[in-house]
Amino acid sequence: MPVHVETSGVVLELRNLRSRIDTQRGPVFPVNDVTLECHRGRTLAVVGESGSGKSMTFLSALGLLPAGGVVESGEIVFEGRTLDTTTTDQRRLRGKSIGMIFQDALAGLNPAFTIGQQIGDVIRHHDKVSRKAARAQAVETLGLVGIPEPAQRVDYYPHQLSGGMRQRVMIAMGIALRPQVLVADEPTTALDVTVQAQIMELLDRLRTELGMSLVIITHDLGVVARYAEEVAVMYSGRVVERGTVEQILQSSIHPYTRALRDSTPRPDADDAGLRAIPGQPPSIRSLPNGCSFHPRCAVARDRAVCFETVPPLRRLAPDGQLTACHHAEELLPVPVVREGVGA
Ligand code: SF4
Repeated sequence: MPVHVETSGVVLELRNLRSRIDTQRGPVFPVNDVTLECHRGRTLAVVGESGSGKSMTFLSALGLLPAGGVVESGEIVFEGRTLDTTTTDQRRLRGKSIGMIFQDALAGLNPAFTIGQQIGDVIRHHDKVSRKAARAQAVETLGLVGIPEPAQRVDYYPHQLSGGMRQRVMIAMGIALRPQVLVADEPTTALDVTVQAQIMELLDRLRTELGMSLVIITHDLGVVARYAEEVAVMYSGRVVERGTVEQILQSSIHPYTRALRDSTPRPDADDAGLRAIPGQPPSIRSLPNGCSFHPRCAVARDRAVCFETVPPLRRLAPDGQLTACHHAEELLPVPVVREGVGA
């Protein structure tokens, strides 16, 4: 009998999240005033260049910041309940309610243990079940992620599997406890193109079958276009634009989103129109004043407000996207008028 899957409602919400990491050279703030929503049964893509705070945002939410890291302010709300980041709240959710597939996951498997032992450990860490029951659940989960003959392969060591199969094992570890949210951090890095597509199809299928909210952290706008419904664009630890996939990819307003889009090859266009984004993203140790994109922004020119004031994330139209740019009004896309359409 088909399982009824609830496909609406916010499962995980980050409200004005700000994280700090105390280092020997002073504090740095990798996540700054980030507000995001993950909806049940839907896919949110978080995009931006390396160092934009994409991974750090979710490591903050899960209490996995590196040594010296704390959530300094803001709220993490899971299924309507605000987590207390000073207790074990986040640890209890990790793995059980929110699964995460880490970047460079292939290196995350322990070569000394079978994949069944490693998935079983995840299950027994949260649920008081016997080794036998955990193994049975591991076999079932391996089947769910498309590992052929899971009852045999559960006893394989990681080196006995291909890169694509090992990534499926990492996904199995992420969904072993059937979480409500699965965060996949660059899930296809280091895989060849064919396997990348298979892994993305698998994640998309699991999202539907398990009714999960899927968060894809990626810099690949092709993946975003194909799989995401909502998109958050991040730059130097802040969300600079947020909306539906159509709003972000087809009618973006923020100069950074546009630059990101124009620097990405598209299957429907030749590479002649590609434009690299000038300059480099800033280090979180020395963020520029005002809008941190201003040193690379063609719109900023000599407009003082860009150099002095951080632009707030705001909505220009009732159903439009949220954009953090002082000059968003003059950057609104011009509507396309087609003959014979309209009054
Ligand atoms: Fe560019 Fe200014 Fe807008 Fe920032 S606020 S994106 S610097 S125009």
